[in-house]
Amino acid sequence: MDLYEHQARDLFERHGIVVPAAEVTDSPRRAREIARRLGGRVVVKAQVKTGGRGKAGGVKLAADPAAAELTARQILGMDIKGHTVGTVMLARPVDIDSEFYVSYVLDRAAGRFLAIASAEGGTEIEEVAATRPEAVARVPIDLAEGVTSAKAAEIAAAGGLPPQTVDVLVRLWQVLVREDALLVEVNPLVRTPRGQLVALDGKVTLDDNAAFRHARWGGDSTGPTDPLEAAAAAKGLHYVRLDGEVGVIGNGAGLVMSTLDVVAGCGARPANFLDIGGGASARIMADGLSVVLSDPAVKSVLVNVFGGITACDAVAEGIVRALDTVRLTRPLVVRLDGNNAAEGRAVLDAHRHPLVEQATTMDGAARRAAHLATTA
Ligand code: ADP
Ligand code: MG
Repeated sequence: MDLYEHQARDLFERHGIVVPAAEVTDSPRRAREIARRLGGRVVVKAQVKTGGRGKAGGVKLAADPAAAELTARQILGMDIKGHTVGTVMLARPVDIDSEFYVSYVLDRAAGRFLAIASAEGGTEIEEVAATRPEAVARVPIDLAEGVTSAKAAEIAAAGGLPPQTVDVLVRLWQVLVREDALLVEVNPLVRTPRGQLVALDGKVTLDDNAAFRHARWGGDSTGPTDPLEAAAAAKGLHYVRLDGEVGVIGNGAGLVMSTLDVVAGCGARPANFLDIGGGASARIMADGLSVVLSDPAVKSVLVNVFGGITACDAVAEGIVRALDTVRLTRPLVVRLDGNNAAEGRAVLDAHRHPLVEQATTMDGAARRAAHLATTA
């Protein structure tokens, strides 16, 4: 579960990390009152669970309460990378002398946590990491030892951060451990001209498996971050949005995963992962199709089903009945194999939908869907 910036801010504050005074609202009028309370000048910040808000125009300085209201009105409702801004955080502006980057992330491949630190934090950190990786230090952490002051000093030195950051680094590790987080990131961690360290932006991912021991987590932050994923979850579907153009629907996580690989192998990019499971009823098929088709990036849809316990003719019936309720606006390539495959193909053939075509192999189906998507 990813947290909103304001939730990360509150967690940091509880663990003794200095953060700017701030309040959240969904109303421009209240934004004006909050700005007045915070001293007039404020930074208005879109609360969406994605990075790069600053570059997208979702972080703006407002000179006085009237400007804060106007800016909040502009930012609320804005679309940032597919996320609609529902609330803004108004934060007291902090004078910035330098911006640092620090995070602790789970390194799944190595089975441990990594500290990442750089003296060149701020909105260009991805650029820095890509063009000058030596400016971004990566220090493995021994879980049993954790981040002691000595370890924090090692991280700070590796990243070129001033020694005063040691205290923040230790506290940030405590946030990770005590809150059961998989990721904590501060970017930027700033030093003010008077030498104070303030966490200006935070990202925290909590480990859902630990939810049972955190009563506090209950609130509005549970559930998927992406609006389409949330809509799918509400229908009981396991859907993960990706950034390609071929919509993928399959039965069984393993088959869907390999379908993603094959689509990528055909030179296209999958738009999503959607496992409809064993059932593949008309209802599930209709729900799945409508979720996949509501992503405007999808140019073609590939349905890849291997009939096992579920017979292919039942799946085909499901597709046909789904097409009664979902208006198909982009081509659908179906590959049915396994139990009752011939009967299933016959059902689809008999239906003769102009946008539906069939392929007999997984590779053939993926090639066709990739071709349709990339030439659309
Ligand atoms: P994002 O990383 O999503 O772009 P940030 O919260 O990091 O959003 O804001 C982008 C930039 O705006 C920061 O790098 C910092 O320079 C500036 N900024 C953010 N919050 C404040 C603040 N409270 N006071 C002064 N500058 C801020
Ligand atoms: Mg940031």
